[in-house]
This record gives sequence, C-alpha cells and structure tokens, in this order.
Amino acid sequence: MWKSFFLVFSFIFVYSCHLFSQSPVRIPVTVGENTFYIETYEKTGEGIAYVHVHENETASLAAGKHIWNQFGGKLITLVHSFDGTKNRNVTFTWKKTVYKFDPNRIYTPDRTVLKNNISVVKGRGEVDEFIISEVEKLAKAIWSEIDDFSYIIALHNNKNEPGMLVRKGWFSKKYEPESFSIISYIKKNDESSDSNLSCEDIYINPRINNSEFFIVTERRDFSLLYRKRYTVVLQNNQPVDDGSLSVFALKNGIRYVNSEAKMGRVKEQIEMLTLLLE
Ligand SMILES: [Zn+2]
Repeated sequence: MWKSFFLVFSFIFVYSCHLFSQSPVRIPVTVGENTFYIETYEKTGEGIAYVHVHENETASLAAGKHIWNQFGGKLITLVHSFDGTKNRNVTFTWKKTVYKFDPNRIYTPDRTVLKNNISVVKGRGEVDEFIISEVEKLAKAIWSEIDDFSYIIALHNNKNEPGMLVRKGWFSKKYEPESFSIISYIKKNDESSDSNLSCEDIYINPRINNSEFFIVTERRDFSLLYRKRYTVVLQNNQPVDDGSLSVFALKNGIRYVNSEAKMGRVKEQIEMLTLLLE
C-alpha cells in the first residue's frame, strides 16, 4: 500500500517537474522606472542559445520554441509590454520623460553608439550618462544569459514591404523606403548601406522569397547553407558597430546565426531552422 502510494507520488512529482521545466524562468530587469523580464527556457540537448528580443516578431518565437523543444539548449525572450500589445521597441520612463530604444541595438562597448540608439519620445529629459547606463544594464543582463554558449541563433521576423508613400498627419505624405530584406545587403545605385558595408559574401537562391534568409558570422556556416542552397549573408570581419547582437557576438568570438523570415511565417521558419541544424 505504502509502496504504491510512494510510486504514484513519485510519478506526480516527476511529471510536475517536467511540466515546470516547460515554463520560463523570469528574470526581472529594472530600466528607469520600469521593470522588464527576460524569460528563459532551458532543456538538455544542443549547446545552443536561441535569442528573441523583438516582442512583436511572434512567428520567430513560435518557430524558435518548436526547434528548442526538439534540439534542446536555452531560449530567451524579452518581455517589455504589459498592456496587451507587443512592440519591437522598448519604451521606459524616467522623471516624466519617455525614452525608446531597439533591443537589438544596445550591445556595444561604445557609449556614443548606445547613446545615438536611444531617443526621447516625450518629455524634457536628455539621453545622459544615467539613461545610457540604465539601457546598458538590460544589454548586460541579456548578454549574461547567453555568454557561456558557443553558438547563438537569433530569431527575427521582417515586414517585407516595398517602398511606398505613407500618410503623415492630415496634409503630408512621406516616402517609406523598402523594408529590411536580403536586398538590403546589395549595393544599389552606387550607394552602400550599413548592411552592404557589413557584407562579405552573399548567396541568393532565386526560388526563395527575399524575406527568408540567414545572416552568419562564420564562413563554415555560410558554406553549410550554400551547400543546402539556402539564401545566406556572411557578415564581414569589420562590420559597422550598430549595437546589434551579430556584431557583438563576432567581437566576442561566438558563432552567430540570425534567421530572418517574414512576419507570420512560422512553418517556413521552422523549416529553415531544421535545415540549419540537421
Ligand atoms: Zn527582429
């Protein structure tokens, strides 16, 4: 009787532990007057860190969780909106001023780059040393979750929209350039963009849409994806320091692959990540 009770109890305990391992550990980080969370999922398996920092890119998170569940490793996602919306940029308040930054433009030892990547949305405050340090705190907290991994896979989605005139206010229209895609890496009209200047090599499969591609920092990953005929960009050894994780990973000697797919394309992104890891 006691033996069977013990067995049932053990089963419930092990099963709950299994369920618990599927829920994230939430690490709070205070930035200004706000608290954000780095949610981390861990599972034995491959020594890979999956990084998701753009909250609104939900397809890449779903695809990343699927792959993490299959291959193991650690997955982290940044949670910074609590009003039911999901936003790319992080906003925070300090002394009645609202600041904004892109959470993939904060990983840099260069405080001038970091300062230029923080903007004032509302209020009279400035991007001073204190504000820079607050944002740097989040960058360090995210980095400390992944810096002991030798392989980082970043999860992103893009809009994949053509250039168009967008109405601004009642009377004016503004031309919004073509959104980020594999095309951003090509030198166009004799002009180089930051993406183009950071590009060492490129392979484009003409049958794959321009929104689905990889950005890698090592030649071996470029060659692997080229052999599998998947669109890929090799970032060069002297990329422009824009505060992005890809540049920071390269400087820290960590293998880095960014998977880019159009918003909403979960199935396609699972397929491309499977192709990368198989
Ligand atoms: Zn993104």
